[in-house]
Amino acid sequence: GQIEGCIECHECAKRCEANAIAYTMQDEHIEIDAGAIILATGLDLYDVSPLTEYGYGKIKNVVTAIEFERLTAASGPTFGELKRPSDGKIPHAIAFIQCVGSRDFKHKAYCSSVCCMHATKEAILAYEHHPGTKSTIFYMDLRAVGKRFQEYVTRAKEDYNVTYIRSRPGMVAVNPENQNPIVWYEDTTTTETKNMEVDLVVLCQAMTPRGSKELAEILDIKLNEYGFVEVPDKLSHPVDSTRPGIFACGYVHSPRDIPDSVTQGSGAAARAAEVIAGGN
Ligand code: SF4
Ligand code: SF4
Repeated sequence: GQIEGCIECHECAKRCEANAIAYTMQDEHIEIDAGAIILATGLDLYDVSPLTEYGYGKIKNVVTAIEFERLTAASGPTFGELKRPSDGKIPHAIAFIQCVGSRDFKHKAYCSSVCCMHATKEAILAYEHHPGTKSTIFYMDLRAVGKRFQEYVTRAKEDYNVTYIRSRPGMVAVNPENQNPIVWYEDTTTTETKNMEVDLVVLCQAMTPRGSKELAEILDIKLNEYGFVEVPDKLSHPVDSTRPGIFACGYVHSPRDIPDSVTQGSGAAARAAEVIAGGN
């Protein structure tokens, strides 16, 4: 197949109304004389395996947020049935651990911006799959900055059995009898050390700007200390890189969610049009 896992059934070509699928197309290098460049490469997920304290890769019922998303998707490995990896059991108690690799000077010091809300969304999704599911979100600070985000969190608590515990879990162990993960954490409101046995742990891992290092070398632009595109004048030229005519938007610019990326994309397109029209 042309792409990994493709069995060349040609179903997608039959269904694509724009007739935009060509199986025989090969990679090509094309040179374009462009008046402006917009960088919009998006994000990569940070590899959580070096954070060995959370047991990812060793404890079967510890998954990442993106893997959890696949476990709830109709096109995923369980055909949309939310089942845990070790034994296919339906997880009734789920723990989400926030800021895994984010806001951590040993890994990525910045806040990845979207994980508080996608954990909330996934907890709601789990409840919708199996009403009665109890989700616990272990968070340091809750980043619910956006239109109606706080109301969404309140709804999660009131209608979807989601509990938020302010804490920083230090370790995930496993109960050898039933493969249940056990989350050890310090409740930072009481400073007590506690533990909670659950059916499934979801790690909300950090995100990083995709391909920014390679792009910076090719395009001769600067990156900031975290590898995002450096924007020297954030107030009056918020999408301009260090090189005139090169703009950035979305996650390669800085951590942000989809609506923010779309808005910023419009800004970058407007700036590119301005430069092409002869402005600066
Ligand atoms: S639907 Fe398209 S991409 Fe998917 S397996 Fe069939 S040919 Fe490949
Ligand atoms: S969005 Fe929330 S979970 Fe993600 S890094 Fe920021 S504070 Fe942590």
